[in-house]
Amino acid sequence: MLRSILIAAAALGCLTLSASPAFAAAPPYYPPVEWIPAAAGNYSVGRGGAAITTIVIHETDGSYLSAVHWFQNPRSHTSAHYLVRAWDGAIAQFVAESDMAYHVRSANPYTIGIEHEFWPRYGIWHTDAQYRASAQLTCAIARHYGIPIDRQHIVGHRELPGQDHTDPGPSWNWDYYMSLVRSCASSRAEGVARATSFQPSELDGAAKGPLVFGDQNPNVALLQWNLAYLGFMNADDLTAGSGNFGSLTRDAVSSFQTAKGLEPTGDYGAPSVAVMVTSLSGALAGLPTISLDVGLEQDEVTQVQTALNTLGYMDLVTGYYGPMTLDAITRFQQDNGIDTTGMYDSVTRMALAVELKHAREAAAAAQPVPGDATPELSPSDPLFRTLSLLTQ
Ligand SMILES: [Zn+2]
Repeated sequence: MLRSILIAAAALGCLTLSASPAFAAAPPYYPPVEWIPAAAGNYSVGRGGAAITTIVIHETDGSYLSAVHWFQNPRSHTSAHYLVRAWDGAIAQFVAESDMAYHVRSANPYTIGIEHEFWPRYGIWHTDAQYRASAQLTCAIARHYGIPIDRQHIVGHRELPGQDHTDPGPSWNWDYYMSLVRSCASSRAEGVARATSFQPSELDGAAKGPLVFGDQNPNVALLQWNLAYLGFMNADDLTAGSGNFGSLTRDAVSSFQTAKGLEPTGDYGAPSVAVMVTSLSGALAGLPTISLDVGLEQDEVTQVQTALNTLGYMDLVTGYYGPMTLDAITRFQQDNGIDTTGMYDSVTRMALAVELKHAREAAAAAQPVPGDATPELSPSDPLFRTLSLLTQ
């Protein structure tokens, strides 16, 4: 019993751990970055009141690792905020955006510097992965500070006044890079437009029929999560992707039909739909019956946020469907193999019901077993309070 409490406590610990301060401060629309702090003498804390207005593109003329070592070497007096690796586009961050990296002399106070691994002498060229990762980062920075997406505000090191560097050279494809940054920014604008014109619709609980072997659509995904809730499918089998009516699903439908006294055909038709509706009654209690998307502020959003909070996807419950909720829903969908729309829909609702059920079962399993000889926790122990919250 003590062991299971310790496991529950360890799991809780993971949920409340936070990343390094600079990383945690990044808005959710930033791409993932690895935090590798520069040596203390290679940047200044703060920017002396200057506003961030310009993003500067650099080339390393050296390997990724040599750049990392250079920024970590206190004698270099050099740094950049970010470095993008050539072969896979991985991004490392060395200096918080609120601090001044040493990369462009007198332009340091108002710029954010992005280095790009590039070393043609040793066969390291710019790659598509690198362009795309860097464009996502620039798009996010521009959004964060309201920087216009044009060549006056997204510039090369060589283009700033008073520099003796010539990077980026002719290999850097400005037209391609700016088109990637612009398309990222315009898909964001479409998201906002979609939010303002969004009309909630009624959500399905049980999947609609008929569905048969070979079908491929979101309604199949809903059926699979229905079956997972009732224990006829393993939710872990769905995390790789749902929506395909294959042999696993056919077998699960047959088991469901046998258990409910129907003929086990493996096809999900009208009789199965009717039994599914009754079997799921109560399953979705507390989860809103309408679809939700960015921009809404209402009680239903609070309900979804509460569920996401219980499952460790959100820290705050605000009732407003903003970037934090969008990010939490998106991550939940990714983790569960659901189309990552960022919207609360029928499939997401059913998957939330499944994961909440599993969380409740896990919490119940962590409870002391009656007759267990291990001493009980005192109610004043913080662990006791945490566990009772979990099992409420
Ligand atoms: Zn440079």
